[in-house]
Amino acid sequence: MMSNIRVRFAPSPTGPLHIGGLRTALYNYLFAKKHNGVFILRIEDTDQSRYVDNAEEYIINSLEWCGIPFDEGPGKNEKVGPYRQSERKKLYKEYVDILIEKERAYYAFDTSEELNAHRKQHEAVGKTFIYNWHNRQKGRLKNSLVLTKEETRIKIEKGDNYVIRFKTPQDKTLLLKDEIRGSITIDSNTLDDKVLFKSDGMPTYHLANIVDDHLMEISHVIRGEEWLPSMPLHVLLYDAFEWETPKFAHLPLILKPEGKGKLSKRDGDKLGFPVFPLEYTNEESGEVSLGYRESGYFPDAFINMLSLLGWNPGTEQELFVLEDLIAAFDLSRVSKSGAKFSLNKTKWFNQQYLQKKTNAQLAELYLTILKNKLPQPLPSKDYIKNVVSLIKDRAVFVKDFWSLSNYFFERPEEYNEKAVKKQWKEDTGILLNELIKVFVSINDFSSESIEKMTKEWISSKEIGFGKVMQPLRLAIVGEMKGPHLFDIIHMIGKEEAILRMKIIIKKLS
Ligand code: GLU
Repeated sequence: MMSNIRVRFAPSPTGPLHIGGLRTALYNYLFAKKHNGVFILRIEDTDQSRYVDNAEEYIINSLEWCGIPFDEGPGKNEKVGPYRQSERKKLYKEYVDILIEKERAYYAFDTSEELNAHRKQHEAVGKTFIYNWHNRQKGRLKNSLVLTKEETRIKIEKGDNYVIRFKTPQDKTLLLKDEIRGSITIDSNTLDDKVLFKSDGMPTYHLANIVDDHLMEISHVIRGEEWLPSMPLHVLLYDAFEWETPKFAHLPLILKPEGKGKLSKRDGDKLGFPVFPLEYTNEESGEVSLGYRESGYFPDAFINMLSLLGWNPGTEQELFVLEDLIAAFDLSRVSKSGAKFSLNKTKWFNQQYLQKKTNAQLAELYLTILKNKLPQPLPSKDYIKNVVSLIKDRAVFVKDFWSLSNYFFERPEEYNEKAVKKQWKEDTGILLNELIKVFVSINDFSSESIEKMTKEWISSKEIGFGKVMQPLRLAIVGEMKGPHLFDIIHMIGKEEAILRMKIIIKKLS
C-alpha cells in the first residue's frame, strides 16, 4: 500500500551530478522505499544562466545506472507535473501575488548599483549591509513599503526593473526542527529579505522550491547541508502561505580524503578517482571527467559505498545490497558531521562485490575484454571460467583480469629482467630440459599429478625446489607472479608448457 511519504530529489541541471548529489538522491530513494512512499525527480532549472544542455539526461542516466529510478518525474507518471520548473513558470507568479496580497512580500526597485553603494558604505564603517526590517522602511531603500500604492503601480507599469522580496517577520524566535540535527533556534531579525521573484518573470530557487514542494505534496525534504541556512526562510514561507510544513533533514557533507572541506572534482583529479557516477564530457571545453561506471565499478558496490558516507546501520555490517539498505535505512542514523571519502574503502567495496559474483558471471564480463585482446576463435567459456577462478581473488576490477591472467592466453614475449638475473643459473637450461622429459611422461596431466611427478623428480636430484620452480615459473608466466604454478601448467596444457620451456632455454642458455 502507498503511504503518504513523498520525497523529491531536486537537482539543478548545471553539469554532471557530483557523488554528493547522488547520495542525496540515494537517501531519498531509500527513505521512500522503506516507507512505501514515492520518490520524485524534479528538475530545478530556473537559473537559465547556469543551465547545461545534457545535464538532465546525465542525472537520469546516473539514477538508472545506480538502480534507483524515480517514480514520478519528467516523462514518467506525471501526476503532479510538469516536473521541470521552467515548464511551471506561470504558476510562480500566481503564488508570489498571494504573498503580496497578504503583505508578506513587497516590490523593491533598488538597482544593483544602488545596492552596491549601500554595501560599500556599510563596509567602510565595518558593517554588513542586510536588506531587512531595520532598513526596509527607512526611506533610503526604494520599495513598495515606502512608496504609495499608486507610485508602485506606476513604476511597474512603466517597466521599471523590480524584485519581489519576502518581508521577514520582525522580533520572532523561530524554533526549527531538523530530523538529523534536532532543534535549531533562529532570531528572525538576523535574516535578510530574500528575493523571491524577478521582473523577468522568473522565480528564485526559494519561491519555486517551496511552491513545488507544496503542490507536489512533499512530506520530507531530504537535501544537502548547504541548504540548511535556507531552512528558516522556507519555514517562514510555509507559514506565510498557511501551508503545512514538510519535515526537513539536512545531510552531512562528503569530505575530502584528508577530512577537511567538501570533496571536490580537484581532489578526484589529483588522486585519480572519479567524483561523478558516469563519465562526463564538458561540451564547451571538451574536458572529460572520470566516471565510476567507466572506471570499472559495479553499481551495487558503488551504491553500498555511498550509502555509508553519512549513515551507519548501528552494527558492524558493511555489505548491503539495495534491498538490505532499504530495510536498514533510517534518518535517525544519519550523522550530523561530514563523512570522509576513502578511495581504498571504495575499492574494497568493489573487490567484495567482485568476489561475490559467480565465476560464470565474471567470465561473461571478462569475455568482452578478451574479444579485444585475442584473435578468434576465443578460448572456451569453461577455460575462461577456470582462469577467472584462479586469479579473481587478486582483482579489484574486471579490467584487472587481463594483467593477472594474460599468460593463460598468450606466450610470454619477454622475461622479467631482474628475475632472469636472479633465477637463471648456468645449469638451469639442463634442468628444464630434463623436466621436459618428465612432463612428456605424464599421462594424466592434472595439476596434482604434474605437481607430484615434478616434486618426485626434484627430490631424486637432491636439489632445492626453488632451483627448478622459479625458472619454471619464468618460462610459463614470464615473471614471478601468478597463482599455483601447477594449476597454470595444467590449464595451458602439456604441449604449450613444453613449448614455453623450450623457448626460454633457447633464449637464455
Ligand atoms: N536545486 C537545489 C539543488 O540543486 C535543490 C535544493 C533542495 O533540495 O531544496 O541542490
